Amino acid sequence: RNSRVQPETGSEKDMERALRPSAFDAFSGQDPVVENLKIFVAAAKLRGESLDHVLLHGPPGLGKTTLSQIVANELGVGFKITSGPVLDKPGDLAGILTSLEENDVLFIDEIHRLSPVVEEYLYSAMEDYRIDIMIDKGPGARSVQLSLSPFTLIGATTRSGLLTAPLRARFGINCHLEYYDHDVLCRIVLRSAGLLGVRCTPEAAREVALRSRGTPRIANALLRRVRDFAQVKGSGVVEPEIARFALEALNIDRYGLDQVDHKILNTIITKFKGGPVGLTTIATALGEDPGTIEEVYEPFLIKEGFVKRTPRGRVVTDLAYAHLGHSVENRQT
Ligand code: ADP
Repeated sequence: RNSRVQPETGSEKDMERALRPSAFDAFSGQDPVVENLKIFVAAAKLRGESLDHVLLHGPPGLGKTTLSQIVANELGVGFKITSGPVLDKPGDLAGILTSLEENDVLFIDEIHRLSPVVEEYLYSAMEDYRIDIMIDKGPGARSVQLSLSPFTLIGATTRSGLLTAPLRARFGINCHLEYYDHDVLCRIVLRSAGLLGVRCTPEAAREVALRSRGTPRIANALLRRVRDFAQVKGSGVVEPEIARFALEALNIDRYGLDQVDHKILNTIITKFKGGPVGLTTIATALGEDPGTIEEVYEPFLIKEGFVKRTPRGRVVTDLAYAHLGHSVENRQT
């Protein structure tokens, strides 16, 4: 995973946790998703039942983990967290499932990366709250059925296209998270500044918001970096000038594109005459993983109009040529 959106050090992770809203009211943006979830949570509570299983999809850093935790808090139930790649064997999953209490929330991040056997094992758990477990080994081995407490599975994925149809069909609630607009990100930055105990002017918050790729995790990370600059080079207050200075120093341009984005666009322009070119060809030329390009970088480049997806491959737009200062003369199309 890419370091820009996944905090790497322990202290960054702690910081992320500290900035995480814990109730619907503290969570800004994603209004349609939040409004629906509020109703489903209230209804489940009224009936005293577990909430239906929820699938959250969308790019990294938009609040899937945060929302899941909020749902558990609002339901007043326990929250357990795991992820697709960590669950190696059905036994790993069985251990977690049997530890859940009534109506608890189990969050599985990167659910598209579950191994097929584990995924299949999940089906009966989701549908009937039952699992089969093997007891004994060798000739005496037999399987017994175990009842589970009713629970809610919340699955998160950056790539819902990779989910199998049977798994997808087992989620009663399906929500897509969108990139955040600048106003909402601005509010998130000001809230985070408050929690971090730094003074930040609204205009400076806007500078940070504008360059955060519509992503709260990036906004929070940039705010922390800008705060470092403000404390060392400025007055300690996050002001527009120091924010701009810091963001320049971090090589983040006014669209929020960083060096990797520039490399992707420059590669398509200089090596492939602007495209069309296939994703794997681009990834090979860059020495990057195609999945990372597709799920982390490309959605934002497409959303901002720098890249277009065509049946014959990716094409860089005029906007990208102009933004990076290339002449369109050598373009293929
Ligand atoms: P995901 O699970 O989608 O990768 P997270 O839930 O881990 O994203 O969110 C990343 C960070 O962004 C968290 O620290 C969280 O505090 C912050 N964040 C995400 N969405 C919001 C929001 N709507 N309001 C405030 N902070 C948010």
